[in-house]
Amino acid sequence: MRLTLPLLLLFLSAAAHAASERQAAPAGAPAKAPPQFTRFTPDELSRGFMALAFGSDLRTVARKPMIRRFDRAIRVHVINKGTVDRTAQIKKIVAEYATQMPALGLTLTDEAAADVTLHLMNEKNFAGALIEAFGAKIARTFIARTEPQCMTSVQSDGEGKIIRSFSFIIVDRGEATFLDCAYHEMLHALGLTNHDQRNRFTTLNQDRLVGYLSAYDLALLRLLYDNRMRPGMDRKTVRTLLPRLIESLPAEVRAKPGG
Ligand SMILES: [Zn+2]
Repeated sequence: MRLTLPLLLLFLSAAAHAASERQAAPAGAPAKAPPQFTRFTPDELSRGFMALAFGSDLRTVARKPMIRRFDRAIRVHVINKGTVDRTAQIKKIVAEYATQMPALGLTLTDEAAADVTLHLMNEKNFAGALIEAFGAKIARTFIARTEPQCMTSVQSDGEGKIIRSFSFIIVDRGEATFLDCAYHEMLHALGLTNHDQRNRFTTLNQDRLVGYLSAYDLALLRLLYDNRMRPGMDRKTVRTLLPRLIESLPAEVRAKPGG
């Protein structure tokens, strides 16, 4: 019983400062898309960032946890092999990321020059594509473990700089699945490589179907691509750095002090 009181206080205190100002999902989001919160406490932002920017479900090489991100303008290429052509839709989503996050320097390019390659495909070709990209052993282990519908592989050097990202996005399972995958996999491709099933704000919670670029995920991307956040930084360094970066986020995403 001794533990009950402090735990309860902690919970109440967190609730009093919880994210606020819920808004309906933006135009173009799937019909059943959840509303989004628009303001977050420093704790909500830093916890989400620490959970999502370090580690990954698909770790093929053991490495110490570090920040992985691009350190150059990012060129994107789209390859469509699906029977439903969603090329224009995915390009529009890339353009939305580019507009919302000029620091990414996102532009479209050809296959050879691509930093991020987005493969659009039918569900029945998904497992085969993973085997082709990663070999049968890794692909089968990953499929057995997570039953993925879409997937991203991020290749980085030993210093945390992303060399190339590949995303596999299914296009023939309906609009909502496609949109959820597209926004979700873009975040992975840019360096938010992990999931957090306890986070109720992010698209990178696999229990949520979102399908748009939420204020929360955009804020995490801003933190990742802040000039002061460098590839290769470890958890301790990032934890120390985050409060200053969060203070630099646009006022409209930060919770009002005391509320
Ligand atoms: Zn994912």
